[in-house]
Amino acid sequence: MLLPTHIATGYILSEVFIDNYNLLQTDKLLITTLTLAGSLAPDIDGLFGLQIKDHHKTVFHTPIFWSLLIFIMGFIGFSIKNLLIVIFIIAFGIGVFFHLFLDWFSGRSAGIRIFYPFSKKQYSLFPLKPEKGNVPIFPNKKNIKKYREFIRYYLKNKFLVITETLIILIAIFIWIWTL
Ligand SMILES: [Zn+2]
Repeated sequence: MLLPTHIATGYILSEVFIDNYNLLQTDKLLITTLTLAGSLAPDIDGLFGLQIKDHHKTVFHTPIFWSLLIFIMGFIGFSIKNLLIVIFIIAFGIGVFFHLFLDWFSGRSAGIRIFYPFSKKQYSLFPLKPEKGNVPIFPNKKNIKKYREFIRYYLKNKFLVITETLIILIAIFIWIWTL
């Protein structure tokens, strides 16, 4: 899934999440920020200079890594009896796990290693073509042609294009609605 869709999903989730709690405006803002941060966090591995097809092969795209991290942080929140911290961690966790779900849902050249470290098999809703993702994550002058080819390949799946567009439109609609 492309970055704008991850951001849009994080925003939609935070709005749904916030609706269930009677919180202060500053806490609501923090929840939105944390859900957005969570919905982008797994793509930290994009900063390591990896190719699109390889960046899902780090621990940042594995459920076990985030489950452990969120469990430990949640445990600390519970131990110091701070329910608000627990809510913040849940908001971040929702963002992270939706990111992983969306990468499984929309993976074209790389999937998600759901059972890592027990298996390195990558799972995705659609068949993967790793050779198409032989492109650095960030486009520059040198790789722009290859990058365009990848986008063209990505856009071939009309179902995903429509889904991603709808998610972005829903986020914009909610944002305008709540202004
Ligand atoms: Zn990702």
